[in-house]
Amino acid sequence: MAGKADCQHNELLLECSPWAEEAGFDRPNAGKRLAAATKGGRNPLAAKGKSANAVKKLSQQVAERLAPSFPGPLLLPKDELNWDPDYPPQSLRSWLNEVERNKLTPERKTLYVAGPPVVMPGVSFMNGWEQPTGTPVNELEGFEPPSTQASLEYLSAFYYGLPVKFFPQPLRFVPWTEPPQRAKSRNSHSYVGLARDDYCTRIRTRETPDKKFKRQLNLNDLLDAAIAMLPDDAYSLALLMDFDMYEDDDDDFCCGRAYGGSRVCVVSSARYHPALDIDESIDHEHMWPTSHCKKFADSLCVVEELEPREHIKSVYETLESPLRRAVDAVRRASAPSTRQVFNGLWFSRTVRTLVHELGHCFGMDHCIFYACNMQGTSGMAEDVRQPPYLCLVCLEKVAHAIACELQLCDQAGKEEYIKARYRATAEFCEAWKHVDLFAAYGAWIQGRLQQLSV
Ligand SMILES: [Zn+2]
Ligand SMILES: [Zn+2]
Repeated sequence: MAGKADCQHNELLLECSPWAEEAGFDRPNAGKRLAAATKGGRNPLAAKGKSANAVKKLSQQVAERLAPSFPGPLLLPKDELNWDPDYPPQSLRSWLNEVERNKLTPERKTLYVAGPPVVMPGVSFMNGWEQPTGTPVNELEGFEPPSTQASLEYLSAFYYGLPVKFFPQPLRFVPWTEPPQRAKSRNSHSYVGLARDDYCTRIRTRETPDKKFKRQLNLNDLLDAAIAMLPDDAYSLALLMDFDMYEDDDDDFCCGRAYGGSRVCVVSSARYHPALDIDESIDHEHMWPTSHCKKFADSLCVVEELEPREHIKSVYETLESPLRRAVDAVRRASAPSTRQVFNGLWFSRTVRTLVHELGHCFGMDHCIFYACNMQGTSGMAEDVRQPPYLCLVCLEKVAHAIACELQLCDQAGKEEYIKARYRATAEFCEAWKHVDLFAAYGAWIQGRLQQLSV
């Protein structure tokens, strides 16, 4: 790893790492990225009478100016885009034309959050399933799973303008009483029920293949339960879990999933438990925003025998640039040690995934244009390197859905919405600045707001 505690993150990587080429990832060029954020899908710099070369040059200049605010996806070895470099981009225009996309309406605009269901005495065997098995019990003391109340507050800022409410009915895990049909179901812990009032959904459980937890719950069953409980005025419903989850026989685990078309998502905090960081070899010195430290990115590429490129400092990478501000907000921070810091870390990771999954409910696909909260991820190590903000393309989608489609704003109104949303998120970050991710996000937003005010 790059010089650990003494790394100053002096040089920031604003483009993809040299590994991108090796992986065969062809990032949409400057002109295409600008076009992707417009409704018409055309580069706004292209005008009659301008030569293709002139447009290209102008686009590159604008892209260079934007890079210290919105750098490229890092694309380090083993990242999601390495495995799937041809993943198709979703521009604002293709998002607008997506027939499956649910639109916000005055009748259906509320985001519901359901906290982790209560484990009833009949299924007390589930107690402890949420604890990492490899950590001695006394070392797990003082860890507190992400608060549902705080998650709701973050959602209110991130999806500013929408009402965010707790799901009104209490949810409970109860015994599933159907007699087991087949021999393999003889394990009485194979099913549990997820109940509200007198309604109950069967949830499959299985032993966790990688043994990080005792057992895990089936994600598809949880999503089915969420669909069945969707309130009439819900735009979407997020179900929070503290148990580990799986999707099918092929996977080890899954942290979150959305059935966007059905307007539901489930997010589990289990794998984000900081006690697992050692197994995942998480480098605490280089989580976002310091994941953009060039020395760090190079060190991961060198492992794959790739020579680092020379650093060309962007003239726009000033002390005022959003990414530099974000890095400066945390560069002096020491490695996490206290329970409070670890719990903040746990919360920040979980809500970053929560807004990502809800983004799918808004019809947003994974983002390949920039480093962005809507990027796909291949695992924990990549997860913590991704930013909490929406890139220029994804932000246009959310702003269009909320400001234009729901609030019927015009272009100027949408721009005001974007600033108001940044201010609301900055307020949340200010209250949570004891957590590095939010301290950095708050600083990034201040830099961005300053750019938008000139
Ligand atoms: Zn996703
Ligand atoms: Zn994006």
